[in-house]
Amino acid sequence: MSHTPSRQDFDHYMTPNYAPQQIIPVRGEGSRLWDQEGREYIDFAGGIAVNSLGHCHPVLVNALKEQGEKLWHLSNVFTNEPALKLAKTLTERTFADKVFLCSSGGEANEAALKLARRWAVDHHGEHKDKIISFYQSFHGRTFFTVSVGGQPKYSQGFGPVPGGILHANFNDLESVRKLVGDDTCAIMVEPMQGEGGIVPATQEFLQGLRDLCDEHNALLIFDEVQTGVGRSGELYAYKNFGITPDILTSAKSLGGGFPIGATLTTDAIAKSLAIGTHGSTYGGNALASAVALAAVEFIDTPEVLQGVKHRHDLFREHLETINRKYGVFKEIRGMGMLMGAQMSDAFEGRAKDILPLAIEEGVMALIAGPNVLRMAPSLVIPEEDIAEGMARLERAIERLVASA
Ligand SMILES: *Cc1c(COP(=O)(O)O)cnc(C)c1O
Repeated sequence: MSHTPSRQDFDHYMTPNYAPQQIIPVRGEGSRLWDQEGREYIDFAGGIAVNSLGHCHPVLVNALKEQGEKLWHLSNVFTNEPALKLAKTLTERTFADKVFLCSSGGEANEAALKLARRWAVDHHGEHKDKIISFYQSFHGRTFFTVSVGGQPKYSQGFGPVPGGILHANFNDLESVRKLVGDDTCAIMVEPMQGEGGIVPATQEFLQGLRDLCDEHNALLIFDEVQTGVGRSGELYAYKNFGITPDILTSAKSLGGGFPIGATLTTDAIAKSLAIGTHGSTYGGNALASAVALAAVEFIDTPEVLQGVKHRHDLFREHLETINRKYGVFKEIRGMGMLMGAQMSDAFEGRAKDILPLAIEEGVMALIAGPNVLRMAPSLVIPEEDIAEGMARLERAIERLVASA
């Protein structure tokens, strides 16, 4: 008899570095999911800002099926048509001239950081090796990216960390000025901190970073792994600010659920990734590239991007209405379909307690740190699913308040 997997199997068979919720979803369609018992959920989590078109969107399913019957993988010993089309499309729609493809956000950032170091050695010498990033930032889980990330708990306990990394305070230009100099190789920043609590950068801050990089011949790297591909209401969030980075990283929404990452840059900087300097066996995988191409072409249209901004307003109105009744939030913030609600003082640190209650009520959400309820739903979530999901979220919050 075949064994039906259960939540206990996770504890038996998988490394204990995650603590998944008790239910196991088995099927999804649009912004709804069903678990093993057939219970339905509205998805405000979006696989952590990954399922940009919800679950099993026909455009992505067709791209996957078509490519799946043609060619899956070659490695970079050969190039392939979907990867070439994707790279061309990304360069046509952004500041970039060149694209490095890989399979995750961490890998895209690893490439960005190695490229910046290599560029500095090529053009300025070995001394120019300092990378400045920000407290509370998140850039991935490889050892380089976790060290550049601004949450020491993720890099401690693994032995010596890579050197030449400095941290400043987000949205505090003075703290950057104290660290920046002619030995600065790059500044890496999220235009809106995601894991760090859904904190948008200010216009002045990003402009100030751009100016400091120009002044000191350093590269500005935007980590748009979470904010990219329509999430902010523009294809990439840098377009909202009108500030252009030298290197930009993308993943999460890029594949709509299929693992893919990309590092974008200019012709001049890309030259430092000469033959043999970097690579990835899966990078430019044909299946991943075909799905990402379909996602980018579908999302980067005025209708979809306008829709993201409209849905943002709807989410905000619903959250404000809930807050007028229960006073659980101190601030509601974010861009497009990436929103955070910071808990009020009375509910300090209790964002995570909402998640299991929300699941019982039939809605999935996320947190960003202990104090921020995060939502990163499909960019095309139907309005009736927003209304129904919010009614369910309200019941969860009512129960949180009742238990306080
Ligand atoms: C999720 C995330 C990453 C890491 O992406 P992975 O695909 O998990 O490696 C890096 N940077 C930001 C801003 C992210 O949100």
